[in-house]
Amino acid sequence: MGARTGAEFTAGLRDQREVWLGNERVEDVTTHPAFRAAVESIAQLYDMQHDPAYRDTLCYPSPTSGKPVGLSFLIPRTRDDLVRRRAMSKVWADVTCGMMGRSADFLNAMLTAWAAKADYFARQSPECRERVLDYYEHCRENDLFLTHTLVDPQVDRSKNRAEQDDPHQCLGIVDETAEGLVIRGAKMIATAAPFADEILAWPFPPTLTAAESAYAIVFIIPVASPGLKILCRESFTRPGAVEDHPLSARFDEMDAVAVFDDVLVPWPRVFLHKDVKLVGQMYTGTRIREWTAHQTNTRLLSKIEFVYGTLSLMAEAIGVQDKPVVLEALGEAASYVEIIKSVLLAAEHEAEIDPSNGALYPALAPLQVGRAWGPRIYPRLMAMLRRIGAGGLMQLPATFSSFDGPTGPDLEKYYRGAHIPAQDKVRLFKLAWDLVGSDFGSRHELYEMFYAGDPSMITASLHRDFDTARCTNRVKAFLGLGE
Ligand SMILES: Cc1cc2nc3c(=O)[nH]c(=O)nc-3n(C[C@H](O)[C@H](O)[C@H](O)COP(=O)(O)OP(=O)(O)OC[C@H]3O[C@@H](n4cnc5c(N)ncnc54)[C@H](O)[C@@H]3O)c2cc1C
Repeated sequence: MGARTGAEFTAGLRDQREVWLGNERVEDVTTHPAFRAAVESIAQLYDMQHDPAYRDTLCYPSPTSGKPVGLSFLIPRTRDDLVRRRAMSKVWADVTCGMMGRSADFLNAMLTAWAAKADYFARQSPECRERVLDYYEHCRENDLFLTHTLVDPQVDRSKNRAEQDDPHQCLGIVDETAEGLVIRGAKMIATAAPFADEILAWPFPPTLTAAESAYAIVFIIPVASPGLKILCRESFTRPGAVEDHPLSARFDEMDAVAVFDDVLVPWPRVFLHKDVKLVGQMYTGTRIREWTAHQTNTRLLSKIEFVYGTLSLMAEAIGVQDKPVVLEALGEAASYVEIIKSVLLAAEHEAEIDPSNGALYPALAPLQVGRAWGPRIYPRLMAMLRRIGAGGLMQLPATFSSFDGPTGPDLEKYYRGAHIPAQDKVRLFKLAWDLVGSDFGSRHELYEMFYAGDPSMITASLHRDFDTARCTNRVKAFLGLGE
């Protein structure tokens, strides 16, 4: 098949999937008001793969069929490959203002990392290696949209999976048959699950004691698998005029909990199981982070560029752009754009070939810096939106259509800015409110803090994995201390 169109992606979602929004079982996610807009936004990304203006940036020729396939499946072997992967992700992220964290290129990067390190899975069995490679090719050639769900239900974090009072609370194996593994339990969070083709799961954090072997499982199955329920949070989609909710009208990618009620995972979809050491070390052993963090930092760059642009326009709109305190805030915002850009460039500059597979991996440390700083940067940017927007964020008509109503002349007069007409200023400030004040905006602040895991753990890992001796030895030498 090769790279899909938006219509092909959308048609693929009309299946037997069990998606719940409150007490409603959603019949068709492609038409339901809570999901339709996000499905359309993702479909737009797929359509771009067929647009001559973007095709060569978004696709490359399949090594098996020669047809165009998504560039996020490319195993990078040169620096140019890495740059092309970044360009691909940036183009998609720019279209969604960086608001769709789980666009297909994110999990394609993870799957591609597994394929490049398929030998890791051979440690479980030669079949597992083949399953990973077969699935990677299947996903690439059919351009599937994957989501993933890794974390155990947030019930009692003081106990491990096996110690919870219900042994089937955390997702684990309950039976092993000739067809595959039967699994029971729940995982959170599965962003985009209602409109993903397939769902991938493994335990995160990847800490597993010997007693947790039943929970040591890495697999991918269709979202429409019998027994799998997708329980959605409240929808933050705001149907209606995009001027009123420019982001939440289009990009609510939805978060959900995945409940597995004795779901069969066929053997071809089981990549690792029961080996706590192999599953526990898979995260680092298959070098997932390098390529996924390359994608997530690219998306973050797109998003903070967008927020910085919004901040700058807001300051100009009310004529405070030259005030020292505002200039300082804008300079700080610009520095965040530069930090994340530098993270990406440094990671690419320091990329190294892994001799075991000949693939090129961007340096992990700078990418982890981006992941450690994202949770700090984004809330700071949100604070700046509130600071610069101030009361203007509340000085907005209930609906943009009011400009055509009886109060229109009042709005034209009192809602205008220093140099922009009222309609443009209202559009801009409604965008700012959607970024910072709406339920959609709050969710994004939370997303940037937690999407890659506990931010304090990520930050701590920077010291833990650092070549600290390089620095401490200098201090020791300076002071004349012993080695
Ligand atoms: C909007 C959003 C979308 C997401 N999308 C996805 C997704 O698509 N797929 C996916 O797999 N996951 C997703 N996640 C989940 C994300 O991986 C987790 O939120 C993250 O790993 C943190 O886990 P938790 O939320 O369960 O927090 P918890 O682990 O319950 O932590 C809660 C608090 O307790 C602290 N804490 C917990 N354990 C310890 C400890 N041992 N020592 C000290 N402090 C501790 C934490 O620092 C934190 O402050 C998403 C999260 C968000 C917010």
